[in-house]
Amino acid sequence: MRKLPIGDMDYEAALSGRRDWGGGAWTFRLEKPQDFSYNAGQYAVITLAPGLAHAFTLSSAPREPHLEFTTRISESAYKKALSALSIGSKVGVRGPLGSFTWRGGKAVFLAGGIGVTPFRSILNSMPAADAVLVWGVNTVGDAFFKADFDALGAKVEYVPAKPPQGWAGISGFITAGHIRRLVPDLAERLFYVCGPPAMVDAMGRVLEELKVPGERVVVERFGGY
Ligand SMILES: Cc1cc2nc3c(=O)[nH]c(=O)nc-3n(C[C@H](O)[C@H](O)[C@H](O)COP(=O)(O)OP(=O)(O)OC[C@H]3O[C@@H](n4cnc5c(N)ncnc54)[C@H](O)[C@@H]3O)c2cc1C
Repeated sequence: MRKLPIGDMDYEAALSGRRDWGGGAWTFRLEKPQDFSYNAGQYAVITLAPGLAHAFTLSSAPREPHLEFTTRISESAYKKALSALSIGSKVGVRGPLGSFTWRGGKAVFLAGGIGVTPFRSILNSMPAADAVLVWGVNTVGDAFFKADFDALGAKVEYVPAKPPQGWAGISGFITAGHIRRLVPDLAERLFYVCGPPAMVDAMGRVLEELKVPGERVVVERFGGY
């Protein structure tokens, strides 16, 4: 890997692996360019070919030896090209970009579906005891980072929109009542919200209901969903 001298991408990196989580979710692994450093929660623009560029949060943690991003495969031209990449193919990586990073202290992370990607990176980079992650998923099977989160010992509440029969936990959409119950010390915490725009807007209304002031809310919107 080398830093590119020209063009709209800062680096090129080879695809070194990929993982199918089922349900259309995949993690793609890239060799990390030697001088590429980033903060947990930041994103990069991944270019596959001229005109084929998308933003992806780095779901890998800065201390990990590779770069990873995680996405849902769709029928779009971009995702078809991404799925067709062979191991060793080079992609453009522009970044790191964005400021959706942990500011320190106790935190509540609210994720909608694929919006969990920055939180995998952040939870791997902060004391687990300071974090509560509430992850809205479609089904329990869509909680693809569960093993990672279990290994970290982080407090994670999975909230399936379609719970399996006999599900004892919270289900449906995340509400103010759920957050009050899960986070008794919410007044002491910063809230970080990430997901598709509709989820982020819904969480904005929930946090207003909880009277969390705007300066204690940090937001990342996955435009394009
Ligand atoms: C900061 C940031 C971080 C992101 N991180 C991730 C991540 O970690 N994982 C992930 O899966 N995705 C992430 N995304 C979203 C990602 O860039 C893609 O938009 C998404 O994966 C959908 O791509 P697609 O090729 O499947 O669909 P697309 O072909 O891009 O389109 C999906 C839908 O969005 C509509 N659309 C496309 N572009 C626009 C536009 N500019 N304005 C309005 N509507 C539009 C299309 O018409 C279609 O209905 C991130 C986006 C941002 C901005």
